Amino acid sequence: MARIVSLVIASVAFASAACGDGTAPAAPAPAPAAATLAVPATRTAPAPPAAPLIAIRAGHFIDVISGHELAHQIILLRGSTIESVGAEDKIPDGVQVIDLSDMTVLPGLVDCHTHLADLANAEPLDVLRKTAAQAAFEAIPNARVTLLAGFTTVRDVGVYRAFNDVAMRDAIAEGIIIGPRMYVAGAYITISQGAGAMTGLAPDIKLPWDLEYGVANSPWEVREKIRELAHRGADHIKVLSTGAVLTHGSNPKSIEFTPEELRAAVEEAANFGLRVAAHAHAAEGIKNAIRAGVASVEHATLIDDEGIALAKAHGTYLDMDIYDEECIQSRADTPADFLKHDQDLGELQRRNFTKAVRAGVKMTFGTDAGVCPHGINARQFAYMVKYGMTPIQAIQAATVNAADLIGHPELFGSITPGKSADIVAVKGDPLADIRVLEHVSFVMKEGVVYKNEP
Ligand SMILES: [Zn+2]
Repeated sequence: MARIVSLVIASVAFASAACGDGTAPAAPAPAPAAATLAVPATRTAPAPPAAPLIAIRAGHFIDVISGHELAHQIILLRGSTIESVGAEDKIPDGVQVIDLSDMTVLPGLVDCHTHLADLANAEPLDVLRKTAAQAAFEAIPNARVTLLAGFTTVRDVGVYRAFNDVAMRDAIAEGIIIGPRMYVAGAYITISQGAGAMTGLAPDIKLPWDLEYGVANSPWEVREKIRELAHRGADHIKVLSTGAVLTHGSNPKSIEFTPEELRAAVEEAANFGLRVAAHAHAAEGIKNAIRAGVASVEHATLIDDEGIALAKAHGTYLDMDIYDEECIQSRADTPADFLKHDQDLGELQRRNFTKAVRAGVKMTFGTDAGVCPHGINARQFAYMVKYGMTPIQAIQAATVNAADLIGHPELFGSITPGKSADIVAVKGDPLADIRVLEHVSFVMKEGVVYKNEP
């Protein structure tokens, strides 16, 4: 246990130095936190009885459940767990105080669509130039910068090298590297040469097993993959319902998995207690996925009125990455065929986002991080507001709604007694200017401070 503590603290100090965060973070009571870090990320750890009480003095506090901003709140936490939240003057004697009285405090943010365990290159075939170990090491900073940007949890939705994401999740949970709490897919489940496949190679090239792990071409092959993924540690299942923008030889308007295959995915995942996230751009592919019972549709680019009504009726979350367009179009390394796929889609997706918000569809915050550089996830908030959400709706998409979609509302998503002490703070008022979330000053995950820039 002691070894884990020292690794965590060393990693925190390194992260701060590497990112120019200034002084070493004021990590409160590292010992109790180690107990949490040593267990799998998907479980809730009870607070160790010996952990001292810590108080956070919040000048402003965003209650994401009521949607209201409160002044002068005190958050008491013990170890990795929040004990109480309430009005000031309730700090017991002798308790360590973290003073955020000139900041706005809110729950740790959640990005429901990341690819932390992959290379961040725009060209997917670059993965063939690296060993699996190289890809794994090169992905470590992706996790670090995401956490330091205020994202204490991510739902990672696919990786080219199967199970690199499982390994990263576990390395973070064990304190070997720092990063957000991760929920992972293990691989992409995709048709042959589909949106989640490694495409663009000559037909006589044989891929290694991990780069074609999730290929499935019938309901029973889909079930077979899900059975394996469930056994090997996936937290959810990612299926590709339509073609993609960022895949060679793909057409985002094409239908890939059939309704029968999608239903098999949802049913088999449910057998293992797992939910399904479906990538879909084309309107029919979106509706196929919703009718099959997926928990979320990713991108939802060309969703039509019927699709919006279906999402509302089924309670399906839409996880729309409406900032990405800026990066796809501006990155120097975006392959030319991807730019062609992307034509008009960005603008259409943003318009459909506005329609879905107005219709009252459940929405989460998901950026497809990796398309844009990791760590700038929060830039999407301003776009969500520009295209129809109120600032509190955008924050709820990245907190309470995200926790609900991931299936752990008891663990994170709000600053509530009993939940994990995942807390961030910003200077300024995000309800007045959502862009202040792009510069998070304070990051705590599971009671450990990773960033504190007063
Ligand atoms: Zn993605």
